[in-house]
Amino acid sequence: MIIDSHTHVAKFGNKIYPAKKLLSSMDEAGINYSLLIAVGQTTTDQVIKICENNPRLRAIGYLPYSSLDNRQINKIVKYLKEGKIYGVKLYPGYENFYPMDEKLFPLYAQCQKISQPVIFHTGVLMAGLAGILKQVHPLHIDEVANKFPDLKIVMAHFGNPWIVDTAAVILRNKNVYIDLSGYFAEFLHLSPRDISFFVKDLTYFKNFVGSFKNCLFGTDWPLYSQKEYLEAALQLPLTDEEKDLVFWKNTKEIFGLEV
Ligand SMILES: [Zn+2]
Repeated sequence: MIIDSHTHVAKFGNKIYPAKKLLSSMDEAGINYSLLIAVGQTTTDQVIKICENNPRLRAIGYLPYSSLDNRQINKIVKYLKEGKIYGVKLYPGYENFYPMDEKLFPLYAQCQKISQPVIFHTGVLMAGLAGILKQVHPLHIDEVANKFPDLKIVMAHFGNPWIVDTAAVILRNKNVYIDLSGYFAEFLHLSPRDISFFVKDLTYFKNFVGSFKNCLFGTDWPLYSQKEYLEAALQLPLTDEEKDLVFWKNTKEIFGLEV
């Protein structure tokens, strides 16, 4: 079984990528399930609706920082408890806040209590979009994990290119995971040269941390072909046990999916 832990249904440039396209991409790649993450233009409520009609998709909510208050947090937590969403994503850097912003502590406390994960954008900001890089540095996640040690955290894009720092964060914090998504230049085919850098960087990570046990397969479709991304990830030096963990077991377990 293969689960893509990081996809979006959205409009990029003047192209629309609806759920139907995602499902045919999953068929092409041999991916069984995808987590569909809400973004600015595709709200949590829209993503929930899409997933209700598509049993191979599972919704991940999004909490916009600009409208963050306890009412919004309670709404997200209610959705998590009802099983309408399986986690919540935050976008520091793009939305000018730090992961350790105290306004977010009630969300972290609640997610920790009900054992549902928070995904943080970490690492490079997408070309052409405004943002503040230091807010997406992996070391901020270490602080959140220290304050909320039982909170399950996924660092999207493994803090690329600060992989050395990400490795240090993962080594110290047992409930922090990385997803492998978003490494390459957007909307391009993956070249053998790009894939060799991907493998080299993540091999460094494995050598430092000791394993790929805290990694989740993810692509960030539609920015990349799921089929090509999967082929790249299969070139990582994974043991059989790590293969199961990375390609489906971790995602099933962390997000509490019934698949
Ligand atoms: Zn994404």
